[in-house]
Amino acid sequence: MTELTDLEFDQQHIWHPYTSMTQPLPTFKVKRAFGATIELEDGRQLIDGMSSWWCAIHGYNHPELNQAVTDQLQNMSHIMFGGFTHDPAIQLGRLLLNITPPSLDKIFYADSGSVAVEVALKMAVQYWSSLGQTQKTNFVTPRSGYHGDTWNAMSVCDPVTGMHQIFGSSLPNRLFVPAPQVGFYDAWDQSDIEELEQTLATQHAQIAGLILEPIVQGAGGMRFYHPEYLRQAKLLCEKYQVLLIFDEIATGFGRTGKLFAWEWANVEPDIMCIGKGLTGGYMTLSATLTTTVVAETISRGEAGVFMHGPTFMANPLACAVALKSTELLLSQDWSTKIQTIAAQLSTYLQPLSQCAHVRDVRVLGAIGVVELTNNVDMKSLQQEFVQRGIWVRPFGKLVYVMPPYVISTLELQTLLRQVVAVVVGMPQHVEHNA
Ligand code: PMP
Repeated sequence: MTELTDLEFDQQHIWHPYTSMTQPLPTFKVKRAFGATIELEDGRQLIDGMSSWWCAIHGYNHPELNQAVTDQLQNMSHIMFGGFTHDPAIQLGRLLLNITPPSLDKIFYADSGSVAVEVALKMAVQYWSSLGQTQKTNFVTPRSGYHGDTWNAMSVCDPVTGMHQIFGSSLPNRLFVPAPQVGFYDAWDQSDIEELEQTLATQHAQIAGLILEPIVQGAGGMRFYHPEYLRQAKLLCEKYQVLLIFDEIATGFGRTGKLFAWEWANVEPDIMCIGKGLTGGYMTLSATLTTTVVAETISRGEAGVFMHGPTFMANPLACAVALKSTELLLSQDWSTKIQTIAAQLSTYLQPLSQCAHVRDVRVLGAIGVVELTNNVDMKSLQQEFVQRGIWVRPFGKLVYVMPPYVISTLELQTLLRQVVAVVVGMPQHVEHNA
């Protein structure tokens, strides 16, 4: 048997995200990464436009974050959270509860974004069952949402672009309302909330919670919607006795221009999930935050406890680096930095809206989106981006960038010039069957 090269072994034996094992998309082997630079095995350097899917807000190999991990390693990398507690979990909890909605003051640490969503959904169901409302077990959610890949998280993802078609009836049946249509920058139109109101009015007796991504629907289409939607949704949740759950896993830690996206509407949820940028992309960690009322109601219920407790709950290494990453963010004028990135994204990307094959260009905070009229051929496009020295991973009709906040003006200029050049020459990358 001939020896496989590393890349052949990778292709033949290792699963990558959302990838076929018979026709895997090509992968590029990374040697190291620092700042906003990703260096491939062959020495090529790429400017990072993705922050490793929203996470690496301070870029890679950050000396202060490295130090936080190294320091924590000297004490312990992990200790069970059942019966023990530790400084990283406590200090991080103090900080996070200080910078998230004031009404949230209990925190549950979990391992990933999807698990934080599972925890949020379980909290909502346990809350109502503790009040004797055992029929309130379902969830309502806008279409075009994305909340993760675990079972219940999947069930509240968009039913068309999400995974419902594959998993079909094995998924719980959720209640879907149309995705918010009024854009972030458009004039509010009350009809945007009508179907949500109707659904809540007729089915609230079965509904434990409304779950949504505030302001930015991420993986479900990179859509930016009007803050008034959240204000109206909050009023409806109060009126119809349904918990409001914000999934801020992607939108948190400054990405949209506010520290958390709820601030655009000044609407406080009953439960909120955070993750991704929490550790600056160093490690997987998430958290689900809730109010005293929800937490105490659950605790007074028949079970008397909240039924979740992952093995790696509050992992000290992850908490230590999350604490440092959040402190680092807050110690800078992050808001000006994001505004500067936003301005540059607009300057370079907006002119693309003139192209016939571009449907829309939108920018919010450090997120720039070019929506095309047709699906892109991800394989050839990714290859071209790499050849041009940038890392951008499109999906569907979307070419989007969300760079690490440490990216320099010059790096961002280079990145955007290349994105623009590729999009302008795009028709050859459009899927033939699109
Ligand atoms: N919610 C949102 C809004 C997300 O963007 C993601 C990840 N893309 C998740 C949940 C799931 O997080 P994870 O991949 O860490 O499980």
